[in-house]
Amino acid sequence: MNFKSDTCVGRNNRSLTLYYTKSEADEGVRYTKATYRKEMVSYKCSKCGYYHLAPANRNTPLAEKRCNCFDRNGSGKDLYSSKSSAEKRAKILLLENGVKLSVYKCLEERGYHLSKVK
Ligand SMILES: [Zn+2]
Ligand SMILES: [Zn+2]
Repeated sequence: MNFKSDTCVGRNNRSLTLYYTKSEADEGVRYTKATYRKEMVSYKCSKCGYYHLAPANRNTPLAEKRCNCFDRNGSGKDLYSSKSSAEKRAKILLLENGVKLSVYKCLEERGYHLSKVK
């Protein structure tokens, strides 16, 4: 198997479990539900291109499409398919990290991004 060196990191700086295929990720969803009674959803990561699991109640789907917008660190920005899912994500991040984010329309008009409010 082909391991990527850069692991995606979730909240709390814990590295996210990486699944190579959607079916592997869905298997992980079933396993987590059976073992921990936690509702999870699988999603395709826009950073590594593989799949991770996220708690179902926090699911804010990222757009399938990608765009060429980058943040200051040069990594691709998360693209949200709708304004409401971007706003939902902004609300979660504000509650969890105290980070205030504003929603703006992608320059390529492929969706929406979040940007830090200074
Ligand atoms: Zn990832
Ligand atoms: Zn963009």
